[in-house]
Amino acid sequence: MAALAGAALPAQWAHRDNFVILEAGFGQGQRFLNTWAAWRADPNRCQRLFYIAVAAQLPRQLPLSKFSETPSLADRLAQSWPVLTPGMHTLVFDEGPASQVTLLLAAGEAADLVPQMVARVDAFLLEDVPPAPLAPNGDEGWLSRLARLAAPGCTAVACGESAQVIEGLRQSGFKAGGIHAAPATDRMNFRFEPRHTPPPLPGGLRPTAIGPKQRHAMVIGAGLAGCAAAWALARQGWRITLIDAHAAPARGASGNPGGLFHSIIHGEDGTHARAHRAAAMRTVAVAAPMLAQSRFAGACQGLLRLDAQTDAAQAKSQAHRLGLPVEHVQWLDQAQARTTAHIPAPSGGWLFRQGGWLEPAGYAQALLADAQAHANVVFLAGQAVHQLQAATHGQKPWQALDTRGEIIAEAPVVVLASAVDTLTLLKALPQAAPLPVSPVRGQISSLPLQDGVLAPAIPVAGAGYVLPSHGGRLLFGATSDLDDLDPSLRAADHAHNLEQATQLGCLSMLDKKALSTDLQGRVAWRAVTPDRLPYVGALPLNLADSAQPIPGQKSPRLDQPRLIPRLCNEHGGVYVITGFGSRGITWAALAGELLASWVTGSPCPVEAALRDALDPARIVTRAKARAQTSG
Ligand SMILES: Cc1cc2nc3c(=O)[nH]c(=O)nc-3n(C[C@H](O)[C@H](O)[C@H](O)COP(=O)(O)OP(=O)(O)OC[C@H]3O[C@@H](n4cnc5c(N)ncnc54)[C@H](O)[C@@H]3O)c2cc1C
Repeated sequence: MAALAGAALPAQWAHRDNFVILEAGFGQGQRFLNTWAAWRADPNRCQRLFYIAVAAQLPRQLPLSKFSETPSLADRLAQSWPVLTPGMHTLVFDEGPASQVTLLLAAGEAADLVPQMVARVDAFLLEDVPPAPLAPNGDEGWLSRLARLAAPGCTAVACGESAQVIEGLRQSGFKAGGIHAAPATDRMNFRFEPRHTPPPLPGGLRPTAIGPKQRHAMVIGAGLAGCAAAWALARQGWRITLIDAHAAPARGASGNPGGLFHSIIHGEDGTHARAHRAAAMRTVAVAAPMLAQSRFAGACQGLLRLDAQTDAAQAKSQAHRLGLPVEHVQWLDQAQARTTAHIPAPSGGWLFRQGGWLEPAGYAQALLADAQAHANVVFLAGQAVHQLQAATHGQKPWQALDTRGEIIAEAPVVVLASAVDTLTLLKALPQAAPLPVSPVRGQISSLPLQDGVLAPAIPVAGAGYVLPSHGGRLLFGATSDLDDLDPSLRAADHAHNLEQATQLGCLSMLDKKALSTDLQGRVAWRAVTPDRLPYVGALPLNLADSAQPIPGQKSPRLDQPRLIPRLCNEHGGVYVITGFGSRGITWAALAGELLASWVTGSPCPVEAALRDALDPARIVTRAKARAQTSG
């Protein structure tokens, strides 16, 4: 068997809660497989092993397991292997109440992606970094900035012949030796011994050594956002108190009978497109096994987004330029679109293979049930939180109060997953920066299957959307009205939805008046942020609140989200996960995991640029930038 990379790893991870490895390179995955096998065999192993692999040349498929030294693990890795789109991919193995191996695959050049990692790394494996001459300017690039990621006591293994890596490690504060050297190899071992450790950024990762008593979060709101937050935190062993004003989970927007999820494609592949892609791919990874067990209704067999503006040549060149494989998104001409969706589609469109539809309430409940299988998760139903209170920088836990001022629950960490009501809770929390969230009313419609009603084989979207039939009905929608608080079903909105479904090719020759008796619908409100991206992260402090001292900072820099002071400290704090807009199904799993990384200090599942794009503190940096421009 090939030697375990970093022979000292088991000694390092022994009895730890979390242990984080970053490998530059991945090859065919044998080093990861050996590490995973060693972790499984080790009675003293850490509870959760995070293995980040950054590689430009990840294989599209893994080789057959019979060529592997660890065939059964190789099989499992191959079965979980993702469609390799640019960006990061999360794969989880051996999941149990207190165990987990998480492989974070980052597809791209180390020089681009390592600076985008947000993690506290315990061991770097750098043996496969190709040798290169020393840089003429004496700066070894990303290799010389590993200190930013290194946890106290971090180690590194490098090839002794790679002068560039050795110099980079030296510049990062690593010293050669100090851990058991692998015998008879040219491996060199290093230990992180920096001369100076800068203080952590206010919006950076929390230290991972959070005491067991502090690992308790109360999550306010049990829709998709709250259930996903509870799920992701419980998987890291956190105790959860989940509170909702309703008698059961997912009775707000997440109570719709069905909704779609999918990636998006955009010429610039900016943060919106990359974040949606990462989220859609994570939804498939999480929801597909649940759907396979029929835990709720839905399907992950793709989604067709009609697009009359694009032609085949433009589409092909765009997907190629963005490095998006056909296993992720494929252009279908009109004939192909018709055959694929089984409807007279009015144009060609994009087939998003990691797309589909599902019943959001069932998905939220499945996430909650999985959370309960991992940790102590208590659901407090029918409890409306009126206000939060705590000593801001003390050790006291946060308390959720009802309208009479009685304590509903208390915990060191609060997660606001209360959709539009987050605004009301924030208004009663002057220490927190106000975060704009607008209610957007939406009405969906459904019809029984009958002549002239054509159920698509996969969800079809364009202006509006239509889902495949479920329970003998066709579901379609939806309207979108900002700040409209009318809860009643409106005939005009049904007419709007019928018209859109007709344009998409799913209704024909209908006397729409005759249909009105069979129409059903539901009204709910989306929580929408100004830039249409969710808020996921620690609440920024309200810097205008003069009563609020900012610890350790007289005049904080406000030009980057990560520099903004937060309403949290080493004892706990307040976090937010909301603003899912029209894409709650797409966002839930990834946003839950991103939120968990904020709270627990575990490696961030997305690149720093996407973390910043979803960080609620972006509101503060943008307000500051606007004030500077207008001033
Ligand atoms: C008509 C329509 C169609 C849609 N279609 C799609 C679609 O096809 N695909 C898709 O991905 N998304 C769709 N969405 C959006 C999706 O439904 C939402 O993004 C998602 O449900 C939001 O989840 P949430 O948990 O943030 O909010 P919600 O599901 O609204 O949950 C918030 C919860 O917080 C609770 N709460 C609030 N304040 C308090 C308090 N003070 N104390 C206690 N509890 C509190 C509420 O009771 C509620 O249960 C649609 C939305 C609408 C309205």
